[in-house]
Amino acid sequence: MENKATMEKIVNLCKGRGFVYPGSDIYGGFANTWDYGPLGVELENNVKKVWWKRFVQEGENAYGVDAGILMNPLVWTASGHTTSFSDPKMDCKNCKNRFRADNIIEEHSKGKVAAEAMTNEQMEKYIEDNNIHCPVCGKKDWTPIRQFKLMFETSRGTVEGDKDVVYLRPETAQGEYVNFVNVARTTRAKLPFSIAQIGKAFRNEITPGNFLFRTIEFEQMEHQTFCKAEDAQRIYNERKEQALKFAKDVGLPENKLRFHDHDKLAHYAKSACDIQYLFPIGWEELNGIHHRGTWDLSQHEKTSGKSMQYTDPITNEKLTPTVIEYSIGVGRLTLALLCEAYDEEVLENNETRVVMHFNPALAPYKVAVLPLQKNLSDKAKEVLSKLNKHFMCTYDEAGSIGKRYRRQDEIGTPFCVTIDFDTLENNTVTIRDRDSMKQITLKIDEVAKYIEDKIAF
Ligand code: ATP
Repeated sequence: MENKATMEKIVNLCKGRGFVYPGSDIYGGFANTWDYGPLGVELENNVKKVWWKRFVQEGENAYGVDAGILMNPLVWTASGHTTSFSDPKMDCKNCKNRFRADNIIEEHSKGKVAAEAMTNEQMEKYIEDNNIHCPVCGKKDWTPIRQFKLMFETSRGTVEGDKDVVYLRPETAQGEYVNFVNVARTTRAKLPFSIAQIGKAFRNEITPGNFLFRTIEFEQMEHQTFCKAEDAQRIYNERKEQALKFAKDVGLPENKLRFHDHDKLAHYAKSACDIQYLFPIGWEELNGIHHRGTWDLSQHEKTSGKSMQYTDPITNEKLTPTVIEYSIGVGRLTLALLCEAYDEEVLENNETRVVMHFNPALAPYKVAVLPLQKNLSDKAKEVLSKLNKHFMCTYDEAGSIGKRYRRQDEIGTPFCVTIDFDTLENNTVTIRDRDSMKQITLKIDEVAKYIEDKIAF
């Protein structure tokens, strides 16, 4: 099926139907912040629910945590964020647009030059030697490159003037690392085991944009496996496959997903790979999988003075576990799902319907209850109150049944349950399938089970 999604169509549909609104809309918005509306919050919650089910509930030896957004600032000293979490920023003096110098070089060289490995001086020289102009205004009038701090700072203090800098966490991962010993002790988990977390992170991005793709406030779903060094490469490879399978299972097709192994690694990392998805803006990172060696726990041990070691219960050997990290943004995955689900289908009568082919497990509403006529609304509400005990339902009695089906197609509701005069006589309803548009008749008491089976993940 040809996908007709453009970023503009997705943004319009999201604003128009209540998936996502511009943040602080009545004040003219607040750049690159977005608020999830009634449909968006359901979609996003379902994304988190299926991720948690797959990686924690069904995960091998996996445990969840929910750590604070504000952490002891020493956490960020240990992790290296206070000194090195910055991007090389460069402004065009002519049009005042701001760019990441490494991105400009990578785009210019079509990905052949690994700019992230260059110093600022090397990047400035490359831009000069290759005569790279501003991609927006075409002039070549750059400011020098400066490092731009990505962590948001706030302050803590009871007396004015008595302030300590505190950071809004730029990743959730540190919440899992600092709780490694607590989780190991309280669960008595043996290596390898995993700690997962879903939560907000904040980054003062230089070039936010492309709707939900890159925002300054976002949610991450992170899964860290702690293991012995000898098992790490195997677990890293397994996690890559598991992450790819998850992306396919939620509805992203194989031909629009690919692994992108990193050439340049952080000094402590052994391997790193992104899974990229073919967004309407091109191939871009959906999630990352990193083999981080023992860096994280060693750093926290050094900075906190507390042992982060694990004692093997059989051999009594003490060791610092290796970490395999898998991290994916909720908003970024939600955007991929919105883009993939979108379709414009020409019907037999030559009308076009916009339909969101979400995986039913992720669709905001599972069922729309529609009385054929208004005088059937009492019976319809009775059916609604049975079904909404099981899953999110919506109710619509306004307009022709055809129009109501179209409205549900456009928000991706997989099933429309129609109440007609047979319902009063035989307690039967018709169920229309969003994708095939075929209808079947079922007894009211059979509907919940029928739908449960279809929406299982
Ligand atoms: P990118 O190269 O796109 O900036 P990153 O390599 O910095 O991403 P990580 O730090 O590995 O990303 O974060 C893990 C995941 O969190 C990313 O794969 C992405 O899904 C999500 N993510 C990171 N930054 C943002 C952001 N600013 N807005 C939305 N999602 C983000």
